[in-house]
Amino acid sequence: MLSIKNLQVKLEEEDKQILKGVDLEIEAGKVHAIMGPNGSGKSTLSYVLSGKDGYEVTDGTVTLEGEDVLEMEPEERAAAGLFLAFQYPVEIPGVGNMTFLRTAVNAQRKARGEEEMSAAEFLKVVRARAKELKIDADMLKRPVNVGFSGGEKKRNEILQMAMLEPKMCILDETDSGLDVDAMKLVAEGVNALRSEGRGFLVITHYQRLLDHIKPDVVHIMADGKIVKTGGPDLALEVENNGYAGILAEVA
Ligand code: ADP
Ligand code: MG
Ligand code: MG
Repeated sequence: MLSIKNLQVKLEEEDKQILKGVDLEIEAGKVHAIMGPNGSGKSTLSYVLSGKDGYEVTDGTVTLEGEDVLEMEPEERAAAGLFLAFQYPVEIPGVGNMTFLRTAVNAQRKARGEEEMSAAEFLKVVRARAKELKIDADMLKRPVNVGFSGGEKKRNEILQMAMLEPKMCILDETDSGLDVDAMKLVAEGVNALRSEGRGFLVITHYQRLLDHIKPDVVHIMADGKIVKTGGPDLALEVENNGYAGILAEVA
């Protein structure tokens, strides 16, 4: 599904290499987790995958079902089925949540050469999905994320994910900020959307998120590289021995 080969990335502004050859293969239906100490390059990886400005790819490839992701504009990436959730969702005053969601869904459909969803059809789908995610109908009418609590923002992000039906979901939940309830919401949302045709990359500094989302594969990132890959037990090893133990072992 998602294939990353020897990805090397430096900051555009400073001559600083952040990613130093990342290799990652995520199969459809699988949940991969990346863990790692602060500053190891986890968020940089998610930003580069989203197409954020400020990063220069100096080597390597990223493909989604064989298509070159690095050649795509951010909106083309979304149309191709890539969804990225960040820790701090943006507030959009003046734009109703429902309008935002419908615009996003229809932009994606258009880019895929599919017919737009009618207002009636959209309303039906969004209401059903919101209900599944225990989202108040009221939250659909309010401006996007404005005045939403942390938990509501998270839930809304999961709703966006559910509406866009991505092939590959990338969630960067690093550096805490998520309280236990928000974390459970993210986990429930991810678990509800797990399916055979969909891959997940869950990026997290802390093991506790992985108590709720059981990953198939766990990678440890350090200093811009994946230094160790294993099963769910690897997350427990981090919990028990900290990163220092693992890094000493692979050094
Ligand atoms: P992580 O998410 O694993 O904590 P980041 O990807 O945020 O790591 O950061 C990796 C490294 O790159 C850190 O040393 C960080 O200071 C640096 N870095 C990332 N983005 C920038 C930036 N825009 N300007 C300066 N340094 C940056
Ligand atoms: Mg960090
Ligand atoms: Mg980070």
